[in-house]
Amino acid sequence: MRCSVDRILIVGLGLIGGSLAKALRERRYCRTVIGYDRNAEELEAGLALGVIDEAASDLVSAVSRADIVVLAVPVKATDAVLAEIRPALKPETLLTDVGSTKGNVVEAARAVFGELPPTFVPGHPIAGSEKSGVAAADAQLFERHKVILTLTETSSAKATLAIARMWQATGAEVLQMELARHDEVLAATSHLPHLLAFSLVDTLAAEAENTDIFRYAAGGFRDFTRIAASDPTMWHDICLANRDAILGQIDRFTAGVARLREAVAASDSQTMLGIFTRAKASRDHFTRILSSSAYSQKQHTGPVDFVLQPGGALAGQLRLPGDMSISHRAIMLGSLAEDVTEIEGFLESEDSLATLQAFRDMGVVIEGPHQGAVKIYGVGLGGLQPPPGPLYLGDSGTSMRLLAGVLAAQPFDTELTGGTGLSRRSMLSIVEPLQNMGARIETGPDGRPPLRIRGGQQLRGVEHDVSTASAQVKSALLLAGLYADGETRVREPVMTRDHTERMLRGFGWPVETTEGVTAIRAGGRLVGARIAVPGDISAAATFMVAAAIAPGSEILLEHVGINPTRRGVIDVLRLMGADIELHNETLVGAEPVADIQVRYRPLQGVEVPAGLLAAALDECPLLMVAAACAGGESRLSGLEARGARVLERIATTVGALQALGIEVELQHGQVRVRGGRIGGGALDCAGDARVALALSVAALRAEREIKIGGCGAVVASFPEFVALARRAGIRIRKEEG
Ligand code: NAP
Repeated sequence: MRCSVDRILIVGLGLIGGSLAKALRERRYCRTVIGYDRNAEELEAGLALGVIDEAASDLVSAVSRADIVVLAVPVKATDAVLAEIRPALKPETLLTDVGSTKGNVVEAARAVFGELPPTFVPGHPIAGSEKSGVAAADAQLFERHKVILTLTETSSAKATLAIARMWQATGAEVLQMELARHDEVLAATSHLPHLLAFSLVDTLAAEAENTDIFRYAAGGFRDFTRIAASDPTMWHDICLANRDAILGQIDRFTAGVARLREAVAASDSQTMLGIFTRAKASRDHFTRILSSSAYSQKQHTGPVDFVLQPGGALAGQLRLPGDMSISHRAIMLGSLAEDVTEIEGFLESEDSLATLQAFRDMGVVIEGPHQGAVKIYGVGLGGLQPPPGPLYLGDSGTSMRLLAGVLAAQPFDTELTGGTGLSRRSMLSIVEPLQNMGARIETGPDGRPPLRIRGGQQLRGVEHDVSTASAQVKSALLLAGLYADGETRVREPVMTRDHTERMLRGFGWPVETTEGVTAIRAGGRLVGARIAVPGDISAAATFMVAAAIAPGSEILLEHVGINPTRRGVIDVLRLMGADIELHNETLVGAEPVADIQVRYRPLQGVEVPAGLLAAALDECPLLMVAAACAGGESRLSGLEARGARVLERIATTVGALQALGIEVELQHGQVRVRGGRIGGGALDCAGDARVALALSVAALRAEREIKIGGCGAVVASFPEFVALARRAGIRIRKEEG
């Protein structure tokens, strides 16, 4: 970087001042870094260690030559230093500091200057260590750390920009915060932990057997008390400087410890587990925020291709990942139920974990997930607590829409925010009908998140005529209906997925469905349940079609959800002559599930009625592959009214099947497929996971190798697919890079 500033003077050449000097010098941010310290030895060491270019012996003359003056002295020394340098400060000289508390620094400046100069920009680097002195100076100390600027009412934009640039040159990220907020936040996140560490070590050190305590102290003690080795004078100064905010935090902490003490004394497992699981979840969440990662560990983010060898047959037994829709609803209703709900087979996806975290943030004790097992200590319909801040829902539209229904009726305010994808989507389809029920919800521009939901509204039951069928809209309104006066009725043009209604019944709450209208009344109670989340039928469909087209196949898919609104793939395959048997049919939380056995039997082309296809829309690409392997022609009709996304997906499948040599066309919302020989080669799934899965299955009947590009979406949405497919007999391998 070229030198953009002539001289920077650092007053106080200790850990922070020295680190700043060293970083600026190494990056050649200015021509000369001058150091000043009341301790001559520190200055000499600074010169010897190459931390500064020049050691100033006279503070006043050094100030008169500097473009920027940085105070890096203990906060208590600020007023004395300011008083000393004031006469030498030129009007254009920029002045900043690094003090850990800001209120008292600005107060000191006011006492010295009267009106604060526009060149004064207070700052605080959120980086440090328990060491002190220039010998500990580290040029990388601020890299990827935050520096908070707490502007005064007179700080000029030019000065602010210049100080921000100086910090950015050290690799830091610069933020601005109001002064009072800064001191409060730091009292909680930095000052309180330091005081606890000092106090714990002091308390233990006073015990008679302290040598043993320290000798045998394990990692936890060492980690927790590292910061008790920090400079006592500095912390003494900070306590005096930020007294009120620190006292407030100590009081909150003392009350928290008292609650825990009471729980331990009373062997109150629920309270103890509540405190520990909430803390663990928050700490994990915090770790992810720090590493800028998401709720679940992303398996892979680079490009992925699937390479498939032709032929093969399926055999064995498979258990598929849990259904996403049911996983969301189990967390919601389990939290609102009055006793414990135990879930097995919970799908640990980004989206369902966002729902889980939201309820944790509202005070619900949730253990797990651990290998699909989750235990929820329900709080009842009226038991949610105000969350500490906005509820972040990642890119989960289901979480945001369904939660909006629940939160519209709570006594407290909430704000729902999302990731970049979700923040582009309009929420008006739920906001408007909820407002008709009396909810008060504000949105961002064009109905987009964040949603600000005002609490304390008594909702009233309304009959909603929903023009575009959507299970999420229906679910949000039914959940709001749990709290509304009178009856909430939702009329839909076509039947949508009914997982919410079924799970409500499974938790003991009656829901009526007659002739396109779903109705619910308040006044019930949700009773905790045991829920074994069924395997996802869309995932199962991949293996059903695979076994149905590959000669010699026989496979058993265990515990798959066969909800009538989603089981179309079974009915269409049976219509084509597939040999499919359902065993162990049962209800789980009112959801029908079964083990599905599929044996190979030659398929016949058929005309698929629109009604049947409605319950298999997601599986259209797979059904087209089945049709390509069937005798004669198949027709799938009624697709024109199914939205652009479905048509796009079908068009991509048409293109890929044509590339494999199949006679297939899409016209006027109807797909015609003529069964034939499947070739091979390189195909593109346009980033659509369902198309990629269908083409992977087609390889079982291909004549040559098939390579499918852009399969990252499969890896993200169905990470277990390749392993399950290989186990079942599909000759697939993943190429990454
Ligand atoms: P440090 O290593 O002890 O350095 C402070 C230096 O300033 C010492 O060399 C000290 O000399 C000198 N000094 C004290 N009074 C002075 C005066 N009146 N005139 C000139 N020099 C004087 O402390 P530090 O950790 O760098 O802390 C400096 C500032 O950074 C503090 O305001 C602190 O709040 C802030 N800060 C610290 C951290 C951290 O983790 N350490 C993090 C962020 C911000 P003596 O040794 O003779 O006292």
